[in-house]
Amino acid sequence: MSGDQQKNHPDHTEPVGTPNDESRAHASTHGEHNEPVGTGGGGNGEPGLHRSHRAGRERISPPEQRQPEPGLDSELIPLADHGEHSYTGRGRLIGKRALVTGGDSGIGAAVAIAFAREGADVALAYLPSEQSDAYTIAQVLDEAGVQVHHFPGDLRDRSYRDSLVQHAAQALGGLDILVNNAGKQISVESIKQLSDAQVEATFDVNILAMFALSRDALEYIPHGGSIINTTSIQAFDPSSHLLDYAATKGAISNFTKGLAAQAAEQGVRVNAVAPGPIWTPLQPSDGQPIEALPSFGHDTWLGRAGQPVEVAPAYVFLASDEASYIVGSTIHVNGGKNQP
Ligand code: NAD
Ligand code: MG
Repeated sequence: MSGDQQKNHPDHTEPVGTPNDESRAHASTHGEHNEPVGTGGGGNGEPGLHRSHRAGRERISPPEQRQPEPGLDSELIPLADHGEHSYTGRGRLIGKRALVTGGDSGIGAAVAIAFAREGADVALAYLPSEQSDAYTIAQVLDEAGVQVHHFPGDLRDRSYRDSLVQHAAQALGGLDILVNNAGKQISVESIKQLSDAQVEATFDVNILAMFALSRDALEYIPHGGSIINTTSIQAFDPSSHLLDYAATKGAISNFTKGLAAQAAEQGVRVNAVAPGPIWTPLQPSDGQPIEALPSFGHDTWLGRAGQPVEVAPAYVFLASDEASYIVGSTIHVNGGKNQP
């Protein structure tokens, strides 16, 4: 079955890590890869970490590193912070049921944790190769006492894509929130080296799947529910080495406004979140040139990259009833950068 529904952890697979495992501590040391690295002001002795006096969080200077696409959170140096130890729910999503694509890692994982701690049942969709990250995050969700369902699959696979929403809604007993968050980003210096195959794959995952999943989700999401799309600062301030990716993000922003007007007629709110530079597996799996990683995010007004946990509250707000009059909007979470 393409949806491969599994509630909590399947018996045949060992969960990886635990939420109390200090190796998961936010932006902390990285187990075996424990050598001091990075540059930048005010090093505090931990690998890739530097104190920033702006907004009270560490500025990371990740060492040059590379993972095969799509990358794993468990391999990031330093590890990212998804709110495992910090996000406090306030009951804002009690009784809601959410499908989060790309929910295994990065921004999607932080959103899944925040949603669970706010009381929502969550279905996680991700690539099969990301199973270990997904189980790590699912353990954190389990501790929140909500339902967790797993849907590994490739959004480029039409049979998986076209059955995902139905399978998730069946498992959750309905669907109130769709977070279209899965994304592909491969840096290519020049259009002369940018293949049609890459352009098609990027558009397929980032925007074409969003059309299909949103269409299917609107069959289930009731009045008061919402769709939240992950766009990017790249929609408004494109980097030349992310030509195809930035174009998809521009499309997502446009799609969000157009769909918002349609869906409002059935009382469903469609909005977007536009993150700036956030430390996730997307970046060292060819999302950035390797040599750009140590200074990733240092060009923001806060002078540092964001952590996934810092993006999640925007999704919680947009999904909650507190945002009942917010439609077709974009929340920018980027540490200060030029934005519309
Ligand atoms: P991430 O690698 O943790 O998440 C991306 C996820 O997309 C992967 O975990 C994977 O599950 C999913 N995905 C990729 N290809 C897929 C496919 N073919 N089928 C199914 N799923 C697939 O990285 P992230 O940075 O958290 O990315 C989440 C979203 O945030 C993406 O849409 C990305 O474009 C967007 N974003 C990220 C940043 C940033 O700086 N990290 C900035 C702006 C926007
Ligand atoms: Mg992932």
